[in-house]
Amino acid sequence: MHDDNPASGGPAAQLPDMSLKPSATELFRRKLAGRPQPAELRRIALDGLASSPALESTRHAQIGMLVTHTDRTWWDGLLGRALAEQGLELTGKWSRRLVSSAGNAAIRGSEAVIQVSHFIVRETHERNRWPIRMQGLDCPNATLLIQLIVEHELAHVAEYAATGKMRGHGPAFREIAGSQFGHTEFAHNLVTARQKALDEGIRPGMRVTFVHEGTRYWGKVVRITKRATVITEGRTRMKCYVPIGLLEAASVRRPAA
Ligand SMILES: [Zn+2]
Repeated sequence: MHDDNPASGGPAAQLPDMSLKPSATELFRRKLAGRPQPAELRRIALDGLASSPALESTRHAQIGMLVTHTDRTWWDGLLGRALAEQGLELTGKWSRRLVSSAGNAAIRGSEAVIQVSHFIVRETHERNRWPIRMQGLDCPNATLLIQLIVEHELAHVAEYAATGKMRGHGPAFREIAGSQFGHTEFAHNLVTARQKALDEGIRPGMRVTFVHEGTRYWGKVVRITKRATVITEGRTRMKCYVPIGLLEAASVRRPAA
């Protein structure tokens, strides 16, 4: 049985207040409607990290700390709470396998995982051509680079927390990355820019060299798509798909075996 008449003071009037309390997910959605001041928050986020975030001292936990800290600074930790409500733990870590883009965000089992490419950060750091452009902003050093990668990936996770979906760099993502972090470019564009620069030197037909798992190989580029297809020289000819960033023009001949 039920009472259709709200004026009659039936069961509806006795609902506990709790049912009216917004969920963390709802609170997070409201938070996303605001316009924070990214530059100021970014300074607070980086200052607040207990240890020196210098690249040399990076530890595995650093990315996790940065992720949590950024959520706290920007959103009072509501992203983590909204995800927890959805059965997910927000985590972050370095990836040694990720070489094709600067970062990655994914929902895996009970985790919302943000990964930052150790390779890309190290390469950029060592090439030391600061400042670089990242997400449309000037990025003067590796610490800020890592922060900007984390922000980009957090925007992906924020879209998921608020809408239940990740739709690449679509309108919802752009709105979040733009309004929350002030990003004006949304590709994982560090890689694209870097690859472009390197692409200028690497062409099909060119002899190249690269290191894979500690061994140096020499070969010839036969095709370039996202990666370069290289046919190696030597006793065992192999067809390899190599990230363009790993290739160097071979200015010396392969040493005789
Ligand atoms: Zn992205």
